[in-house]
Amino acid sequence: MRKGAADNYRKGTAIARHREWRGWRDTVYDYGQWCRLWGTLIRWLFSHLIQNVKAIFRYRWMFSYLTVPSFFDRLCFGLRGAALRAARNNLNYLARDVTRTLTTIFSADLHLHPGSKKAEALNRRILCFDELLPALLGKGFPNCKTILFQEYPMYLPSLINQHSPVHYISQSELYGLPADVCPLPSFEAGLAIEDDFPKIGCCMLSSNMPCDGSIMTSMIQERRIGLPTQPLNVPLRWKRGEVQDYAVAEILSAIAFLEEHSGERFDWDALRDACEIWNEQNKAKFEKWELNRTAIPPHTGASAWLYRIFEHQAVCGEREALENDRRVNALLREQVAAGICPKTIRHRAVVWNTPANNYANFNNWLLECWGIDSVCEMIDIHGTGLIDTSSRESMLRGVAEMIETSTMRAHTKGGSELMLDDLWEKYEAYHADMILMFDQISCKGVGAISGLFEEGARQRGIRMCTVRQDLMDPTSITRREMRNDVNVFMQTVVNETPLDPSLVDFDDDESW
Ligand code: SF4
Repeated sequence: MRKGAADNYRKGTAIARHREWRGWRDTVYDYGQWCRLWGTLIRWLFSHLIQNVKAIFRYRWMFSYLTVPSFFDRLCFGLRGAALRAARNNLNYLARDVTRTLTTIFSADLHLHPGSKKAEALNRRILCFDELLPALLGKGFPNCKTILFQEYPMYLPSLINQHSPVHYISQSELYGLPADVCPLPSFEAGLAIEDDFPKIGCCMLSSNMPCDGSIMTSMIQERRIGLPTQPLNVPLRWKRGEVQDYAVAEILSAIAFLEEHSGERFDWDALRDACEIWNEQNKAKFEKWELNRTAIPPHTGASAWLYRIFEHQAVCGEREALENDRRVNALLREQVAAGICPKTIRHRAVVWNTPANNYANFNNWLLECWGIDSVCEMIDIHGTGLIDTSSRESMLRGVAEMIETSTMRAHTKGGSELMLDDLWEKYEAYHADMILMFDQISCKGVGAISGLFEEGARQRGIRMCTVRQDLMDPTSITRREMRNDVNVFMQTVVNETPLDPSLVDFDDDESW
């Protein structure tokens, strides 16, 4: 009997016994990129050995970063050809940027360097932003480094290691916070309660994004962290023209706040340069979307959406990110022009609602087990406008719109017409034959309209598979249960047999 992918898994962890065989060329390429990643990690560790070892023992979440090679392998599971090359390029760029930022964070961290004058001087040059605020605005302070405060202790670890949120969510519940809040703000609150955020920065620009849970956690964080804080309020109904003046006024007020605490003058030319780079990054993304509309979508799944989130939030306006985009797009274009499709696609799915961080490689499983290719994902499709840099006013409006269409915020809080109408539109535009709808059980705003999704799909005769998940809490819904929702749908509604039967049911509860 032909061996399936899951026959190579260790029991309970789904960690592979040996590297995946993808044919000579792809296996050698993948191994080379895996070695490159190790090179990045080892260089980072030894660049500030004592500081980094201290950080690993000081912060519980740092343990997750030790498992990054396994995480990247999971995200590349099953990939061949240009998709594999795109994924490895994106992920290795991400690793380079994150390790550089971790060095800045730990060099300034007063938990690791109490009383250090050098660390204090560095902190005067660090602007902390809420992770939902794109770092683009910070480019107007070229002498400062903008750090998305929760990105490194919370967001990335929740993707890398499914168990990383559990301890912090428990801490926030033990502290007396409600247990039915979304795990994302709960994780952030737990970090603040445990004093597990690095002690960095001269001030904090917080935000009302994306939702009510996030507003509550911002208040707890402000009290525990103690940095001078100002919220940048972003209008909820961001499509409406009448709210744009308010959005711009909020940005101008945020600039004044950052000037006051950093002692720096805002540099409009530096912002213009960054906006122009961001426009090029965005155009590269538009091209990827167009390529995915073809019969041979070349770059789908988590290595695409995860990179998009990181690019939109953390490395917007970065030339190195743009160079990576151009390299990746050239590879994708070449494969599509040659008419090559190195994967088996039985179904084209639009994947809607926020994906599960605790199962970031769910898309890889969908494709390998059932041949479902995630040709369009809600989390990937945001920030579709270009910034007009011809004047300060037009630039401010463009930056306001970029912030308004931040990750999660663009759809989940823009009004039901965005969540609903955009879904049906994307279904047509991407020539999909099914919708995969995440039922994120803690996201109450979207939960409130779940009946409208079902009714809309039924009226249009669209097959819609609902998958329960809890964003980043594997104790409420496991990866195995998510897979089971798809299995039941494919076997009973679609009446189909799996591409790889070994992947239908396996135990990975103990996996990172
Ligand atoms: S998933 Fe929903 S509830 Fe959770 S942070 Fe995002 S918008 Fe808020």
